[in-house]
Amino acid sequence: MQTLLLSGAELAAAADILRGGGVLAIPTETVYGLAADGFQPQAVEKIFEAKGRPQDNPLILHIPDPDWLGRCCAEIPDVAYTLAARFWPGPLTLILKRRADVPDVVTGGLGTVGVRCPDHPLARALILRADTPLAAPSANRSGRPSPTTAAHVLEDLGGRIDGVLDGGACSVGVESTILDLTVSPPCLLRPGGVSLEALRDCIGAITVDDAVYRPMEEGEHPRAPGMQYRHYAPVAPVTVVRGPPTRAAGYILAHAPPGAGVIAFDEWAGAFAGYTVRTLGPRADGAAQARGLFAALRAFDHTTVTEIWAMCPDERGVGLAVANRLRKAAGFHIIDAEESV
Ligand code: AMP
Ligand code: MG
Repeated sequence: MQTLLLSGAELAAAADILRGGGVLAIPTETVYGLAADGFQPQAVEKIFEAKGRPQDNPLILHIPDPDWLGRCCAEIPDVAYTLAARFWPGPLTLILKRRADVPDVVTGGLGTVGVRCPDHPLARALILRADTPLAAPSANRSGRPSPTTAAHVLEDLGGRIDGVLDGGACSVGVESTILDLTVSPPCLLRPGGVSLEALRDCIGAITVDDAVYRPMEEGEHPRAPGMQYRHYAPVAPVTVVRGPPTRAAGYILAHAPPGAGVIAFDEWAGAFAGYTVRTLGPRADGAAQARGLFAALRAFDHTTVTEIWAMCPDERGVGLAVANRLRKAAGFHIIDAEESV
């Protein structure tokens, strides 16, 4: 299959692909999504095929504004509108009871559905033009780092999808925060572009699912399907080194063999002479780290490095999401530089 590369001037063609039951990668502020008409089950199935995604891992429906919640969800609580008013358009996905006519292939057969309103002008214009909620997970091969440019999408899915709508580099760079509103208090299932602190500021108590911090145990049933899969992984294995940056850098220098790949905060990059270094952004700039993380992971695939060592942000703000993605990329292979010498 030939994959078309479309520009923002070709929105009509992009909408035609979606209305016609095709699959199209689209820009959002978080990462590129692989979209299909959420109400055409056969189109949605193509997303799973193209990505090699397990069928039980549900998709998020993308809508242009909160008025469309009623097209996807039943029994919408006031707190959903409170959150939408504060954070939409933006990187927050709400889990709500599904409407009966939302196809099973979108929800993985669950009684709930994830919905969000992306903050990217092309994405919103496209949804309005297609006049249907778009089902979209990240536009990568299953298990790979999420794509933050059209070139990343083509790397993984060129020849497997109908097209890519190029909207430039993603401004947030990590996926949406997922908040389950069907439990009380609401539960954070995945940290993302909206911080836990900001959510608590808006609605009060929120619990955090265990799977955010640790791998699922064998036989354990995940709260959100998808949590149990290895994710975000470059080709070479990753080791995450936690702790104060000077200690973490010292640990990596002492343990990583020469020539290894290193992901470092900008301020420490110069310390790693003889390594293949990708910078994550300044230590205090969580937004920059989020924007750069997946591109840094992918960049190693074009080198000869056989292992990657990563410094890790602390868990404040969007750092919780960056650290979570790094941990998963490492298959939870984590070393605490504070404890190990
Ligand atoms: P992706 O953004 O590519 O990781 O795909 C969407 C993710 O949203 C899935 O991996 C799930 O973890 C989550 N998700 C989507 N729908 C639901 C739902 N109804 N309940 C819980 N999690 C969901
Ligand atoms: Mg994904």
